[in-house]
Amino acid sequence: MRLLVVYHPDFYHGGYPPLKDRVEPAFLYLRKEGCLDRPGVQVLEPEPVQLELVRRVHTERHIEDVGLSGFLEVSLLSTGGVVEASRVVADGEAEHAFCFVGAAGHHASREGFWGFCFINDVATAALDLLNRGLVNRIAVVDIDPHYGDGTRDILGPDPRVLHVNFHSSYGGLGDASGPHNVDFGLPHDCGDDLFMEHADAALDRARDFEPELLFVVFGYDSAIGDYGAFRLSTDAYRRFARAVLERFEAGTCFVLSGGAEVDIGKAASVSVVDVLSS
Ligand SMILES: [Zn+2]
Repeated sequence: MRLLVVYHPDFYHGGYPPLKDRVEPAFLYLRKEGCLDRPGVQVLEPEPVQLELVRRVHTERHIEDVGLSGFLEVSLLSTGGVVEASRVVADGEAEHAFCFVGAAGHHASREGFWGFCFINDVATAALDLLNRGLVNRIAVVDIDPHYGDGTRDILGPDPRVLHVNFHSSYGGLGDASGPHNVDFGLPHDCGDDLFMEHADAALDRARDFEPELLFVVFGYDSAIGDYGAFRLSTDAYRRFARAVLERFEAGTCFVLSGGAEVDIGKAASVSVVDVLSS
């Protein structure tokens, strides 16, 4: 299989309000553009992740607090999709995966959450694969313009993980003292070319780490007209996906992160999926 696309209608029905409205239109747009009918492209409707896996990442108190937020169910479903997709990629059954989600993950730390994030989907999936010995090294490249503090809290100290974080403040915002932590602080008005200059550097670092799986935390809130910093055109996401494929012919798992504007979500998703499925 060339590309596995993870999608569930409940990402909208139970999803977090600023993020959920983009999901169904983007998925339907992929279908309309023919991306899902291409040879080697399959769609997976995930099951919720087992709580046992979440307990290896988050404290019991964290899980209780997320329960009180009302977004535990959709967060478990979103995380289930990332866990399933990354297993399929790690097993070599799919070369790449693109995961829609109903709530994001990178601001969820071991015991704390904010910014539309509840359960750290990527950290849960990464630790599942590492702890079961399915892979020995993982790279996470987070191009969402908000600092991935939760992922850094959970995976930053782990010598088996390279964590590269894009964000919109010079000087760094989190603990970069872990063995394989890299931060790229870029200006608020960062455009396509400056972004790609750093993306190439980030992906070179990821390639040199020789991971068996690359997660991309794909926040398109960095687009002009969406709510995050940076002023990227959706063509930047196409260029980024091409740059990923230049270094990783297989073994990547894109996970949706920030981004709320429906039309940008459609264009951003199709830009990446078009490249990954070609
Ligand atoms: Zn963001």
